[in-house]
Amino acid sequence: MDMFDLLAQRAQVSPERPALEDLHDGTRYSYRELNAQAARFSAAATRRWHLKPGDRVAYLGHSRAEFFVMLFGCAKAGLILVPLNWRLALPELQTLMADAEPAALIYGPEFKDTALPLIEAGVPGISLAPDTGDNDTNYHKALASVIPDLTPHPPRSADTPWYLLYTSGTTGRPKGVIQTYRMMEANYFNIGIPVGLNQKDVLLNVLPLFHTGGINLYSSAVLMAGGSVLVSRTFDPEQALSVLAERATIFFGVPAIYQAFLESPAFNSADLKRIRSWGCGGAALPAHVAKQYASHDILIRTGMGMTETGPTVFLLDEENVISKTGSVGRPQLLVDVRIVDVQGRDVASGEAGELLVRGPGITPGYWKRPDATSDAISDGGWFHSGDVARCDADGHYYIVDRWKDMFISGGENVFPAEVEKVLHEHPAIEDVAVIGVPDERWGEVGKACYTVSHNQKPPSPETLTTFCRERLAGYKVPKTFELLEQLPRNALGKITKQSLRNP
Ligand code: ATP
Ligand code: MG
Repeated sequence: MDMFDLLAQRAQVSPERPALEDLHDGTRYSYRELNAQAARFSAAATRRWHLKPGDRVAYLGHSRAEFFVMLFGCAKAGLILVPLNWRLALPELQTLMADAEPAALIYGPEFKDTALPLIEAGVPGISLAPDTGDNDTNYHKALASVIPDLTPHPPRSADTPWYLLYTSGTTGRPKGVIQTYRMMEANYFNIGIPVGLNQKDVLLNVLPLFHTGGINLYSSAVLMAGGSVLVSRTFDPEQALSVLAERATIFFGVPAIYQAFLESPAFNSADLKRIRSWGCGGAALPAHVAKQYASHDILIRTGMGMTETGPTVFLLDEENVISKTGSVGRPQLLVDVRIVDVQGRDVASGEAGELLVRGPGITPGYWKRPDATSDAISDGGWFHSGDVARCDADGHYYIVDRWKDMFISGGENVFPAEVEKVLHEHPAIEDVAVIGVPDERWGEVGKACYTVSHNQKPPSPETLTTFCRERLAGYKVPKTFELLEQLPRNALGKITKQSLRNP
């Protein structure tokens, strides 16, 4: 089945069911209305903005219900949506614009000042403000002025690029990852089926829509299942907790969000029983966080995936949340996985190696980077994740760390994630990141950057050294400890170690 007009099919099945609600401005769409609005978008893009199939359309703005109109409208018109990370500085956005070469830039009024210099550089700008401009420059006027494009489009391949997502940039410059119709379909199989998404589900989406998590965990899968998505413009723990208590049935968050809930004064009194499934991924969920939730009868199902894999690869079953804490679960329906050594040979059971993934959810490649694509995807379609993983005797997988973060001290491999796990157990430590730094004697040694929990006295480096020595081999113990006010994090709350290495 081709997924290029999934929305039209969904509107055929359940036209009157609520599809989307924007929690900020109250916009609501049933499936019929969402499909009609996407058809208007397609018509406006073609007739007002003169865009042709394959053209890119950049979007700079907060999360909003209208984002999904743009996404499905692009599918109808054969356009490629490029959601931009609004947290980026202007020069960074300029780099992405030069990479994606969009033929139009749609922007929210909240980013007018940032959009202007981009528009002056030559890309036509289309504002989402309620009343400025004309049919060529105002989104709403353009959509209101056209006859919706409801006629079916000629079938395209499910492997046609649909949208471009830049990776989180955790390990370096963000790469544009081509996202196809087939990838979204595969993700539905990989996450929608195991979570049992259905028409009665209501998802609160607080993740940014310029990352795969915001689009696909679980928004796109919920829309395929006919449920509703509540779109939150940005993440506010108290607002999110009240929506979870009153309206939602499912939730997906990254670890930083689950940590923010625990720190919120509203958490203990919030009645969260209506949430039937809690999902988490994007980075490792610290064991102490998982345990704290379990003590509130909330079992968080960890999953693992990447922008390049559509994203879902692994998911932990609810019954294993306690017995397999720290595991990302088993590979899901439409993925094959392998763990290989540096020579590319499959490792023995239980050993760590690079995680390779294959399946219909894998990207055809990086935008305009054939070199990076052929480095990452080998013959046979295996995508090289750059992550180190291992599998236990029961077929449960564990993400050990990223290859790039591993360092070698006195000839021994050190995975910082293992050291971080130990330091997380120290009661005074709130947040911690370990990196390898050059050392004359050992080649590299560990350096731990950490923050201290509220009201706690910072432990001395000697105390921390002793704490680590009691729990880790000597070569893994960081040589230096640096106390910071906070650790640098990206939009998904992942620690950007690059900026710790080059402050
Ligand atoms: P970049 O590729 O630009 O460095 P990134 O890899 O962080 O950024 P994403 O595609 O958003 O960008 O994230 C995928 C990565 O996140 C995975 O390769 C893995 O390292 C990490 N990850 C995802 N889920 C988990 C998890 N449950 N546990 C540990 N790590 C995870
Ligand atoms: Mg990556």
